[in-house]
Amino acid sequence: AVIGQIKEAESEIHSFVTIDEEGAYAQAEEIQKKIDVGELTGPLAGVPVAVKDNMCIEGQLTTCSSKILSNFKPTYTAEAVEKLRKAGAVIIGKTNMDEFAMGSTTETSYYGPTRNPHNTAHVPGGSSGGSCAAVAASECYYALGSDTGGSIRQPSSFCGVVGLKPTYGTVSRYGLIAYGSSLDQIGPVAKDVSDCAAILEAIASHDPKDSTSMDRDDCDFTEALVDDVKGLRIGIPRDYMGEGLDPEVNDAVMKAAKVLEEKGAIVEAFDLRLVKYAIPAYYTIADAEASSNLERFDGVKYGYRTKDYDGLHNMYKKTRSEGFGPEVKRRIMLGSFVLSSGYYDAYYLKALRTKALIKKEFDRAFRNYDIILGPAAPTTAPELGKSLSDPMKMYLGDIYTISVNLAGLPGMSVPVGKDSKGLPIGMQLIGNVFEEKTLIRAAYTYE
Ligand code: GLN
Repeated sequence: AVIGQIKEAESEIHSFVTIDEEGAYAQAEEIQKKIDVGELTGPLAGVPVAVKDNMCIEGQLTTCSSKILSNFKPTYTAEAVEKLRKAGAVIIGKTNMDEFAMGSTTETSYYGPTRNPHNTAHVPGGSSGGSCAAVAASECYYALGSDTGGSIRQPSSFCGVVGLKPTYGTVSRYGLIAYGSSLDQIGPVAKDVSDCAAILEAIASHDPKDSTSMDRDDCDFTEALVDDVKGLRIGIPRDYMGEGLDPEVNDAVMKAAKVLEEKGAIVEAFDLRLVKYAIPAYYTIADAEASSNLERFDGVKYGYRTKDYDGLHNMYKKTRSEGFGPEVKRRIMLGSFVLSSGYYDAYYLKALRTKALIKKEFDRAFRNYDIILGPAAPTTAPELGKSLSDPMKMYLGDIYTISVNLAGLPGMSVPVGKDSKGLPIGMQLIGNVFEEKTLIRAAYTYE
């Protein structure tokens, strides 16, 4: 069914960088045999999944939607993908994304943009735009995305699907090509909350290969699929609902909050003042980490190498100049600048302090609330071709999502309606660390 749907929709939507039709059928046959003898029984057995193209799969092209990795076939598989395989998932392909996960529209991909299945003149959001569009267009039943500053939640919101970024450390980052290592987290994109819970349950793990992954004993996320929010304390930050927020998004999110209130939750407005500093702090820290993480792409060990060059340094320079796109270069330059001696204290260290203060402010808020509720993005999906010319404006669109990564918290986007153009609107639910179950319960009750 999904391969049929891919054939139908893909020429218009372009969710995938690689489609592995043959491999998918072979996997399906193997899995079916195991299902038949009762070796595989879980909810994901035999279900096709698409994986964002920044997660390594042994022997399969893994490009990060970049020219510099356009010929890269890893020698190992990401732990999260390995977990899905063990659960019997059929991996049908690798999804398109913003180059190295840097962007909010999937337009910075070397392979060209993905389009929003709800209206193909619009972007699907980003950077996991391919994963979210593939789920929305039924080209797969669910997908894996990664979220450094909103890349699961924002495109989920734009595509009308459910996306969850877990608490930092819940899913192993082993085999996820790093962008901002202290912020990156893999998570599920699905058609509904139950699927999301089942997928997270399968991929959450303590992995000795990722020293930041955590040993949690509360990963039975499907237990939280309970239709009950009585007494749940929900806070709506006034700072999220003010200036810059599209009125249609505002209305849909407030209506959703009302639904939860009618079902027994206690809903209040409160101030979360420091979030306005999240954007400069995030772009300083993420770019600093990216500039360091991306040093390895030098044309020597793997990936693209320039054709003609004059000595080693010229080879590095030409390879990187030709291999990276403009947004990635901009961030490498910004990141190198804020880390350079003389500027480190003024920018990088200051950003780290800001991050710590934002975390503290969230800690304070979670003394009063179980969930923080707001929009996932200030607008619905913009038109294709309108965002890249003004990177600053694009960065500002991340206002509601990035503080969640800075504080390491779990966040979820849940569809709450459509605007007058028929484009989906997402509500974001933010929980305290390790409180994915509270998010799942609230989202499930709303749904
Ligand atoms: N839009 C943000 C950025 O460009 C977030 C991306 C992400 O979460 N990977 O960095």
